[in-house]
This record gives sequence, C-alpha cells and structure tokens, in this order.
Amino acid sequence: MIRKIAAHYLYPIHDKPIKNGIITIDETGKILDISQSSGSMDRIAGLEFYSGILVPGLINTHCHLEISHLKSMIPMHTGLTGFISQINRSRQADAESITRAARRADISMHYNGIVAVGDISNNDISFEIKKESKLNYHSFLEIFSLNPALAQEKFNQAIVLENKLKHLNLTSSIVPHAPYSVTPEMFKLISSHTSVNKKIISIHNQETKSENDFYRSKSGELANLFKSAGFDLDGIPSTGKNSLESIMVRLPKSAKTILVHNTFTDKQDIEQASGYFKNLYWAMCPNANLYIENKLPDIPLFYKMGQKITLGTDSLASNQQLSILEEMKTIHQFFPQIPINELIKWATLNGAEALNLSSKFGSFEIGKTPGINLIHHIDIQNFKLKPETQIKRLN
Ligand SMILES: [Zn+2]
Repeated sequence: MIRKIAAHYLYPIHDKPIKNGIITIDETGKILDISQSSGSMDRIAGLEFYSGILVPGLINTHCHLEISHLKSMIPMHTGLTGFISQINRSRQADAESITRAARRADISMHYNGIVAVGDISNNDISFEIKKESKLNYHSFLEIFSLNPALAQEKFNQAIVLENKLKHLNLTSSIVPHAPYSVTPEMFKLISSHTSVNKKIISIHNQETKSENDFYRSKSGELANLFKSAGFDLDGIPSTGKNSLESIMVRLPKSAKTILVHNTFTDKQDIEQASGYFKNLYWAMCPNANLYIENKLPDIPLFYKMGQKITLGTDSLASNQQLSILEEMKTIHQFFPQIPINELIKWATLNGAEALNLSSKFGSFEIGKTPGINLIHHIDIQNFKLKPETQIKRLN
C-alpha cells in the first residue's frame, strides 16, 4: 500500500527543509516521491499529517550492544580509568542475561528511530541478535593487547569472528580498541587487512586526558592503572606527542576512519588528523562523555573547522538510554549555537556515509529506504529542541 506522509517540515538532509513537505513511500518503505503541498492538505486523499518535523532513520555510529547488561552498574564521573577498572570487574555475567539485555537494547534502538548501528564486538555473543534485528548492523571487531607477542593471535581470533559474521551475511571490520591498548605490531596487522579489504576503521580516541600523557611521557592515570595492574608498557613507544598524532600514521590514510569520543582533541589534533585521513568522521557520544568524564568535546570547534561529525550512544554501561535524539538534545543544550539542521545531518546522512550505507539510508531521496521519523514537541517557530522533544517511528 502506498502511503503519503506530511508534517510542518520535511528534512531531506541533502537539500533544504521543505515546509509542508509530503513524502510518498511504497509498502517496502522505498521513497517514490517528495513534494511540497501547494494548497490545502485536507484535499489530498489518504494523507497522514503530523505536527513536527520528518527526518530519515537515525544512525548510531558507536555502540556496544554486548555490554547492555551493565546498565546502571557503573558509577558516574569516575573518569575513564575508574570506568575501565569497573568494567573489567563487572563484565562477567551469564550468557542468558547478556543476550536478554542486548536484545532489549536492540529493540529500544528501533523504537528510538535508529535504523543502522556501528557496533563494537569483542566476542560473538550478540551476532544472532544482530542477524535477527530490524536494524542494520556493521560490527567493529575490536582487538587490543599491550603485549606485542600476542598481536597475531588476537588478530587471528578476530578473523574467526569476521568469518562467522560473513556467514550470517553481516558486514564487519577488524579495528583497534584505542591508542593506549594497541601495539605497533597489532596496528600493522589491522592496517594491512583494512587496506586490502577496503574496510572501515573505528577507534576510541582521546576519551581521557591521560591518553595524551600516556604517549607524551608514559605517565598519568592511564599509564599508572596499567602499571599497577602489572602490565609491561614497553610495547607502546613514547612519542612526546598527543596520542592521535602518535598513532594515526599507523593507520591507512584512505580508509574510511571513525574517531570516537574526541573529548580531549584540540585544534592541532584536528588539523593533523584531517590533513592525514582522506575519509575522516568524528563520532561524538556526549551523554557517555558526561557519564564517564563529566566533560564534553569542543564540538563547536569541530563544526567551525568544517569536520564531518557523526553521533553515537556508546553502551548502556555509560548511558541511560540508546537514543540518538537524546545525544542531539544534549549537544543542543550545551551548544545552542549549532543549528538543528546540522545536528540532524550528523544523526542521519553523515552516519550513513561513515558506515557505507548512504545508498539506502541517511536522506529522503527517491529510491532510498531510509525509514521515516517524526520529531515532535519541538519549538517549530525557532527550530529548537526542547527537553520534552520526542521521536516517533512512522516507518
Ligand atoms: Zn566505546
């Protein structure tokens, strides 16, 4: 059955917002037509009219479905080192409670208007859920080890996981966890696999200040945490530079690259990274940053410098919910100078591009099946999100 859906404004994303825009879709959700109402809309037979704005399905570029069972288990504002210690202590749980929580999280993302997810996996426990999900998942198979001698073994384990996903018809990449947890040997294996297979890279970046200290001088909270846990840090060289500048040369220049968090990334880091990577995306997860470090990245700086930004929820271990709209509301609250059109673009088209999904998702264009969301209870006169703003899936 063909549906015609309209609202006060339609946001195609690749083009200007359309006042009283109408979108026509077929029974599969494929867009057949986009138009603007020229007169009274009550004359259009079968038209569904909504109060608010229509946006395409949202893209969550950073999530960890497999640790959804840790919701509300980790105290807030402990800093990243506190968070890592807690996660390691609480990660153990029986498979049933892990999968139950992951399934619930997957369904909640669907209700929150999310259509595709870049999801970190350290094991295969969430694979079946991803296979059965209504959402489109790209799995980032994350590896780490401070021991150079274990690089090949960890990489081989990830290859096994990658093959499992291939059998399930799901896409994936093998990615480094973070600058402070991956040795040059491991970067080398990941980098050549990425280049040969044209994969997407994702890496946690500058989530804590001590990540920069770690590379500058092997000092600070993060270095101390590892030292006190008995790890040998000799495998990772000190460079006297920030972590991002230190590791970016170990990653391929032309691969699509998603840097996640960027809480302690400065102007010089942005200049260097955008000069090096040809396909760079900065994934912001503001609610998780507030939860863990109680600090936000300088998002207006990234915007001013013309960077491509995407949004992520991170995991339920560091967030109250998996909702891209809630991430947008947080950015809007702290940085009201960023126009809402931009936020919507970060939440849709930029995310779809970063995950190689823009032929289907991310914008209202004829032939795409991007999903349709209504954002309502917004201040439509001034284009402002309000605390009570909500999202509703229409398709
Ligand atoms: Zn993460």
